[in-house]
Amino acid sequence: MHILVTNDDGIHAAGVLALAEAMREMGEVVVVAPDRERSAAGHSLTLHSPLRIFELRDGFFAVDGTPTDCVNMGIHNMLPFKPDLVVSGVNHGANLGGDITYSGTVAAAIEATLMGIPAIAVSLATYERLGHFAEAAQVALRVARQVVEKGLPADTLLNVNVPDCPLEEMNAPLITRQGKRSFVGKVIGKTDPRGRKYFWIGSDEPDFNDYEGTDIHAINRGHVSITPLHLDLTNYESMKIISGWDF
Ligand code: MN
Repeated sequence: MHILVTNDDGIHAAGVLALAEAMREMGEVVVVAPDRERSAAGHSLTLHSPLRIFELRDGFFAVDGTPTDCVNMGIHNMLPFKPDLVVSGVNHGANLGGDITYSGTVAAAIEATLMGIPAIAVSLATYERLGHFAEAAQVALRVARQVVEKGLPADTLLNVNVPDCPLEEMNAPLITRQGKRSFVGKVIGKTDPRGRKYFWIGSDEPDFNDYEGTDIHAINRGHVSITPLHLDLTNYESMKIISGWDF
């Protein structure tokens, strides 16, 4: 079994190393990850500049691009095999609610799903530098085993969020839906030493709605959250409504 590991925190991130280590239990692991942190890169593909690959050591490749570039290049150009599974993580910080649209972690799993390869995104719900990454990687391994054994539905990936605690303190995994945050985004404007204005986005603590059944609710109560995400973004209910509009 061949497993591609990636994430947007960069090739040197503790979570990536922990995940690569854990996934070795299942087969041959190759890591293809950005050469630096590219969090919140979303599902962006580099089309207007060249990309370079650096082999850091056996099975570890850094790409000077986005997480999506890594999966795309890994599968199309670099690896001598088509991976049986792509696991993105363990991300430093949760990927909950609508934030998954910004997420490079989830985007890497989306890219694999688009290519017809089963994929899992795994994030550790912490702001601490020294979080329980090895524990979260063990959770990822358990989920990966199920994915390989049972198979995922078409065009579906799993978004897994793990509470930052030892395995024995984690509550049972819950299958959840994507939650929502109340949008209280903030942009701070300041002045640089040369007198020019600059801005900083999203400096506030996330303000998530704690609704039952959501990924947010599960993480807030120390559960592992597993949300199946579907790549067909069509709102089928709305199709009926909008087809009655006068275009
Ligand atoms: Mn990240």
